[in-house]
Amino acid sequence: MRVAVYPGSFDPITLGHLDIIQRGAHTFDKLIVAVATNEDKNPIFSVEERKEMISKVVGSIPNVEIDSFNGLTIDYVNSKGSNVILRGIRTVSDFEYEFQMALTNRTMAPDIETVFVMTSDKYSFLSSRLIKETVKLGGDVSPFVPPGIQQRLVQKLRK
Ligand code: ADP
Repeated sequence: MRVAVYPGSFDPITLGHLDIIQRGAHTFDKLIVAVATNEDKNPIFSVEERKEMISKVVGSIPNVEIDSFNGLTIDYVNSKGSNVILRGIRTVSDFEYEFQMALTNRTMAPDIETVFVMTSDKYSFLSSRLIKETVKLGGDVSPFVPPGIQQRLVQKLRK
C-alpha cells in the first residue's frame, strides 16, 4: 500500500490545498494530511480547528486521513510507515524553498522521497497568508476557500 503524507500549516485550508489533496488521493492508496504544530508561523487557528476544517472539507474522500504532528516531518513520515512527502508547487517562488527542504530531508532520510504536485493554474496564486490579509481588510475570499471557511476567517479576524 502506497501511503503519502501531505504536511503543511493549513491555516486555513484553501482551494489550492484541496486541489493537491484530491490529486494526492488519486495517486496514492492513502493520503495523510498532516497539520504541522509549528508555532513559528503564528497560526490564527489552533491545530484542532485546522484539523476540523480540513475534515469538513475532505471528510468524504475515503482514502484521506487527517492528523497533526510535532517535530521533524521525516520522523512523522517514518512513524506512519510511509516514505513519501507530498508537497504542492505554485510558482517559481515556491521552488527554492521546497528544493532546499526536500534536499535537507533527503540527506537526513534517504529513503523518503518528496513528490511535488503542480496545482491547477486557477489556484496557483492562492496562499493562506494572502487570504487572511484580504479578510482582515474586508474582502470577500469565498472564491478562494472551500465552503464554510470564509465564515470561520471572518469570526477570527474581524472581531
Ligand atoms: P507550509 O507552512 O508547510 O508551507 P502551507 O499550508 O502554506 O504550509 O502549504 C502546504 C503545502 O501546500 C506546500 O507544499 C505549499 O506549496 C502547498 N500549497 C499551498 N497553497 C497552494 C496552492 N494554492 N497551490 C498548490 N500548492 C499549494
